[in-house]
Amino acid sequence: MSENVVHVTCRSLVAVVLIALVSVAFLAYAPLQSSMVSPKMAIYTDYVYHPNVPQEGERVVSIIFDDGWLTPYTDALPILDKYGFKATFAVVTSYIESYRAYMDWDQVVALYNQGHDIASHSANHINMTGQTPAVIADQLAQSKEALLSHGINAPIFVYPFGQGAGNPDVEQIVQQHYLVARGIQIGSLDLSKPFNPLALPANEVENSTSIELFKNYVEQASGSTVVILFYHQITDGSVFTSTTPENFDAQMQYLHDNNFTVRTLKQLFTITESSSTAPSLFILDTNVVYLNSKNPNFYTKKAELIL
Ligand SMILES: [Zn+2]
Repeated sequence: MSENVVHVTCRSLVAVVLIALVSVAFLAYAPLQSSMVSPKMAIYTDYVYHPNVPQEGERVVSIIFDDGWLTPYTDALPILDKYGFKATFAVVTSYIESYRAYMDWDQVVALYNQGHDIASHSANHINMTGQTPAVIADQLAQSKEALLSHGINAPIFVYPFGQGAGNPDVEQIVQQHYLVARGIQIGSLDLSKPFNPLALPANEVENSTSIELFKNYVEQASGSTVVILFYHQITDGSVFTSTTPENFDAQMQYLHDNNFTVRTLKQLFTITESSSTAPSLFILDTNVVYLNSKNPNFYTKKAELIL
């Protein structure tokens, strides 16, 4: 009987030691495992961005007019034409033909046919933060539909008031309708490095923007780094967000005389359908997942990862 007791005790001890060893091994391994990113499979069949990284010696600047005001059409367009520049016009589709201070559809379509970009700036210029997903989706879809019904394919979105860029909840909805979106975070964009295509930075130019500040903005365009500028009205009016035609001309002349390359927002990217091979993976933030295929300059919009 005592032999049995000893035997049982021995077996219990072995069991306890084994459990302890397994626990230690698990605890040691678990933190390591959670810090690793090891996708078993990645499905990505959506569009792929190919950022058009500037050529050697190129200094690339992109110009945007927000809201679809009439004055960029009447007062900025002749200046753009003088220097041979194309720009991006981000229109609020419900404003078109609703107010005299904004462009009509003929003017918007004329710009598109002349090689300018037309981007969506929502249907009603509402602040996207704090809205229900249904309202946001409706604003995005309505404006896209309105543009499409006039023969304009707009893959680019500009956040009203710049609000929503960097907000994962909003960006998640935006990326279901648009491939690229621009906010109002000041700064430049290095096209050779991973970036969030749903929150492109941009620098506002207005009445108070001195030519020195303008130069500071555009001189950041260097190597693979591009600079995006955005304007509102081009007018002599006292609205603080406007820029006078004289100042706009001086700014464009500076770009021209200093051999800057002006590209539309769309021209900063080549957008193609994806059918790539197994990618390497890197995650920049909790929302946007970038898959890097063989070409390091390819980034995909949507990716479903099965981890
Ligand atoms: Zn706006």
